[in-house]
Amino acid sequence: MAITKVWIEEGCIVCNACEAECPEVFHVTDTSCNVNGAVREDGVDSENRDEQSLLSGSNGTDLEAAIEAASASCPVEVIKFDKA
Ligand code: SF4
Repeated sequence: MAITKVWIEEGCIVCNACEAECPEVFHVTDTSCNVNGAVREDGVDSENRDEQSLLSGSNGTDLEAAIEAASASCPVEVIKFDKA
């Protein structure tokens, strides 16, 4: 199993927990949290809620545990991901 894509639903409270767990994927801004373009096929920095871009290369495998830890650490449970 690998994570295919990650996105942030509405409601982020900018607590920084996800970035502390997995800075390769998550970047907290003044108002929300972005999924870094560097790990996405589309290269865009955004919440990936609308784009639904896939993770690029082996990121979904290499960062699986860290993404899951970040999602579990989110106090408002807005970090979502798909697996395949
Ligand atoms: S852990 Fe959740 S609430 Fe906190 S910054 Fe990340 S997405 Fe936002």
